[in-house]
Amino acid sequence: MDTFFGGIEAGGTKFVCVVASGPDKVLAQERFATTSPDETIGRTINFFTPFVESKQVRSLGIAAFGPVDLDKNSSTYGYITSTPKPGWAQTNLLGAIRDALKIPCGFDTDVNAAAFGEYYWVSENRELDPLLYITVGTGIGVGGIVNGKTLHGLIHPEAGHMFIPHDRKVDPFPGVCPFHEDCLEGLASGPSMAKRWGQPAETLPDDHPGWDLEAKYIGFLISNLLLNFSPKRIVLGGGVPQHTGFIPKVRKLVQQQLNGYIQSTRVTETIEDLIVSPTLGSQAGVMGAIALAKTAIE
Ligand code: ADP
Ligand code: ZN
Repeated sequence: MDTFFGGIEAGGTKFVCVVASGPDKVLAQERFATTSPDETIGRTINFFTPFVESKQVRSLGIAAFGPVDLDKNSSTYGYITSTPKPGWAQTNLLGAIRDALKIPCGFDTDVNAAAFGEYYWVSENRELDPLLYITVGTGIGVGGIVNGKTLHGLIHPEAGHMFIPHDRKVDPFPGVCPFHEDCLEGLASGPSMAKRWGQPAETLPDDHPGWDLEAKYIGFLISNLLLNFSPKRIVLGGGVPQHTGFIPKVRKLVQQQLNGYIQSTRVTETIEDLIVSPTLGSQAGVMGAIALAKTAIE
């Protein structure tokens, strides 16, 4: 019998549950809206129960929206902690699922999991450590792999909220982050674009000035990440970078912003090998959860 693993991408908008042995072998998949914790976690448990009872699934990986507690020694390990999402603050996501299904569970942030998915399943990425994964969508998140492991620390990376140059003469928009002024998520998330321009990002025409501004802000993020972490690969995912021509624009701006300072041809010449779209596309997060499940029992 093939060995399968369970993967959960627990997003703030939707949950994706998958039974798979890897990206090429998906046995079952279900997605549903994130409603109340009880209802959403209940549906998740119901989806996996038959696979666990038949012993087809022996471990699970959970890729959760955050902030989350990743400290295994903490009494709130596996909790979603201070989220503004109604009803979800201080939710014991990992505990509820593990108590019901009684199998080993890996647990990480959604972006760390997406980084791990790209690292684990895309063979060329195994040589490109440190690897960072950025999502630019409803929020902006950054996850990473260093020495083959997801990046944890005091809590976990929150580079989506990094402070970046904000020239208010060029861009008077104050941002949408309830915590910070001049933070990247406030200035460059999908909702910030929608609010600044009065229409959703996916409806802005190709020649709209919003795209240059957005590329400049995401360029600052990537330039700062290159200076801080010296990654060998940066995977740029989420809804906004899917806009045609956006990633090439960002690559050019990163080269301009760094101005030759980082003396690697991966920046100065072959930047298209450094900053890439996710190979796994929208499956990066959930396939990262499958990889977390695998490593939970290896
Ligand atoms: P989430 O972050 O909720 O997981 P997405 O990464 O798809 O989901 O992000 C949704 C955001 O991305 C929305 O603000 C939406 O306007 C924007 N978006 C989605 N698709 C595109 C696109 N093709 N071009 C530009 N913006 C997009
Ligand atoms: Zn912020």
